[in-house]
Amino acid sequence: MNFIEEIIEEDLKNGKNCARVHTRFPPEPNGYLHIGHAKSICLNFGLAKKYNGLCNLRFDDTNPTKEDVEYVDSIKEDIQWLGFQWTSEHYASDYFEQLYAWAEWMIERGLAYVDDSTQEEISCERGVPTQPGIESKYRNRSVEENLDLFRRMRAGEFLEGSRVLRAKADMASPNMHMRDPIMYRILFAEHHRTGNKWCIYPMYDYAHGQSDSIEGITHSLCTLEFEIHRPLYDWFCKVLEIYHPQQIEFARLNLNYTIMSKRKLLQLVEEKYVMGWDDPRMPTISGLRRRGYSPEAIRNFSETIGIAKRENVIDVSLLEFCVREHLNKVAIRTMAVLDPVKLIIDNYPESETEMLQAINNPEDPEAGVREIPFGKVLYIERADFKEDADKNFFRLTIDREVRLKYAYIIKCTHVVKDDSGNITEIHCTYDPETKSGMAQSNRKVKATIHWISENYTQPAEIRLFERLFTVPEPDNAEEGKTFLDYVNPNSLTVAHGLIERGITKENAAKYYQFERTGYFCMDKDATDNKLVFNKTVGLKQ
Ligand code: ATP
Ligand code: MG
Repeated sequence: MNFIEEIIEEDLKNGKNCARVHTRFPPEPNGYLHIGHAKSICLNFGLAKKYNGLCNLRFDDTNPTKEDVEYVDSIKEDIQWLGFQWTSEHYASDYFEQLYAWAEWMIERGLAYVDDSTQEEISCERGVPTQPGIESKYRNRSVEENLDLFRRMRAGEFLEGSRVLRAKADMASPNMHMRDPIMYRILFAEHHRTGNKWCIYPMYDYAHGQSDSIEGITHSLCTLEFEIHRPLYDWFCKVLEIYHPQQIEFARLNLNYTIMSKRKLLQLVEEKYVMGWDDPRMPTISGLRRRGYSPEAIRNFSETIGIAKRENVIDVSLLEFCVREHLNKVAIRTMAVLDPVKLIIDNYPESETEMLQAINNPEDPEAGVREIPFGKVLYIERADFKEDADKNFFRLTIDREVRLKYAYIIKCTHVVKDDSGNITEIHCTYDPETKSGMAQSNRKVKATIHWISENYTQPAEIRLFERLFTVPEPDNAEEGKTFLDYVNPNSLTVAHGLIERGITKENAAKYYQFERTGYFCMDKDATDNKLVFNKTVGLKQ
């Protein structure tokens, strides 16, 4: 049980909030969701499920210049793909009228004032935590003047940046967020939902708690950086005399080799370091999905890392471990050769084709078996042969035996090369007594390699990925550099391989294991004429 569950169980025991649990996931629609958001989604929706409660989806859409419906749509798709369904869908912008009314209510009670100071003056007067700030010279305007000015701010009579509405909180508080925080700013921006209806927009701190309150949220979970905002969250609920949800902070997910700020991810997209938000190298949920990650793997990862009160950095290999673990259970095995070289079995009859049984998934008997043809001419992985092999190389070399998976033991005799010295044919003999499954087939060889019959192949583009960043902490750039300086120039390589012929765009399985190579999935760029696969992750760390 994590510390949030302990709080909830205590609250349930005491009958707090009529013993309800109601959480929310509150993304700002200014980008695509990333793996960090997945942690928050699993937490919020997971708690609602565990305690028979509810979980809302609320778009925190108070920054119209950065937000867009494209993001709204992608966020909904990603949450559902992860396997969660919200109780109801809300937008902070639905509460603009109510928030405005509350602001007037606060003005009428002397709890808010219009400030004509510049941004610089405000921040300068706020001072430093160790000394009380200086009160603005506009702080003691009359209620009438404040109301008049605030109404005219709403009516669009003033320039952007010329005035703000501030809460009259505590200019001496050691918590800078309490020093008369800004509640509204003027912004002549079109909002993706409210259009041009508003030219004043509420700040996060003025909108978030009240939105939670309106929705009857019981436990408002957020990341640690909001701990310092909590007194303000509580203060607004208190002075407005409205229902008061409890804000609880937890440690955000940090992953090494990964950037997790939407602003920076947007930069990678806009400056074309990647193909888009759903590039398989991106830590976005849509990127992970395209890469071949399963929702089960991501949920399992979330569960494994747990919920803590202190920040830490998770090794990205743990995420890879989780996806491997799930794909091992569900991926359909298939033969694919990424860098093919021809292998000819000289003593195998020219015209013969044997159908061999291959197991679709040894972890799942229900996945069944399929027949794959075996013949005289095959392709194997170029890397599985080495001419000058030292004693640590166990795969194919001249005069050595290996097993061809599901088939026979072969022995290499010689190779043929082109003018530039590249191997074009590997020649070998096979031992008919060693067919897999035969009584005598137990002869020991050091390696089993995969293969594909010449007459049973089709070409495929196979995209191989490495980490997008070359250093564990790309955010922690040395002086004069930014995270962009650590983008790995070799994060994508394209192989032109051969895969089993039966696979088409239409019948493709969700997840594949290319035997001995790794986990793969078909990419959305695949067409009927050109299959494209992404490597999700290798078989081993
Ligand atoms: P970013 O800085 O990446 O843009 P954000 O916190 O501004 O993230 P929001 O859309 O405001 O993004 O976040 C929605 C919810 O997801 C918030 O409750 C936030 O705390 C949570 N969240 C965001 N990033 C993480 C993370 N790395 N780990 C856990 N929760 C996160
Ligand atoms: Mg944010």
